[in-house]
Amino acid sequence: MASDNENNVVSIWERSDPNADINEMKNFVEAEPPPEARHCTHPSILVNEYHRSITCRHCHAILEPFEYLLRLAKKETRIDWDLRALRAEVKRRREGLDNLKREETNTRARIKTASFRLNDITVAINAASDSLLQLKGCHGKR
Ligand SMILES: [Zn+2]
Repeated sequence: MASDNENNVVSIWERSDPNADINEMKNFVEAEPPPEARHCTHPSILVNEYHRSITCRHCHAILEPFEYLLRLAKKETRIDWDLRALRAEVKRRREGLDNLKREETNTRARIKTASFRLNDITVAINAASDSLLQLKGCHGKR
């Protein structure tokens, strides 16, 4: 039979966390992070070889090395995706630029052909104009 004191302790314990007994049934229990292991996003890190620890140089938070490495790996994965996207965009832009260069070359060739044709037409107009003037001259003398 439990004494009144033991019942009071259990009832207080149950009141604070009704599921606290579940933790006692588990084989593997995750330890709470130490209070100094805060989440820190500062980029300046001090690596201490002797204590085998890493510390934020800005806020002095002690960082968990694996979590820090994992964060770096995830950041590099994001950079990997960004780089792939940027390379795909550069490829698209290069193809667009190549198309524009081809169009420019074709347009220059068309302008050159059109100016030759314009020159031929101008020569023909001048010749016709001269012929007309000669005809007018012949008629004027009569
Ligand atoms: Zn920090």
